[in-house]
Amino acid sequence: MGKGGMSQGEGSKVEEENMAAWLVGLNTLKIQPFPLPSLGPHDVRVRMKAVGICGSDVHYLKTMRCADFIVKEPMVIGHECVGIIEEVGEEVKHLVVGDQVALEPGISCWRCNLCKEG
Ligand SMILES: [Zn+2]
Repeated sequence: MGKGGMSQGEGSKVEEENMAAWLVGLNTLKIQPFPLPSLGPHDVRVRMKAVGICGSDVHYLKTMRCADFIVKEPMVIGHECVGIIEEVGEEVKHLVVGDQVALEPGISCWRCNLCKEG
């Protein structure tokens, strides 16, 4: 998703990984690297500026589940976020570098493998 918090330097080059909050067990978060996927033609890279704590994140932390979804392996939590567009894929026409955005990851793109897999 984004690369916020990974590099503190202004104007630094794009890194290959980001630091993220991984849920690794009941009440256990670890800040660990998250490998950044390559940017596809319809993708944008967002430098995170803030991430909220959703009620679902609290459920995951306290019970390792939320509704029907059960956490079975380490998972990055935190999905309500805002940031600034840092890079755009060649097919992206509605956003440009520097745009301020709020992300809604609950809306599927239906292009990527994760969406196609459900
Ligand atoms: Zn997708």
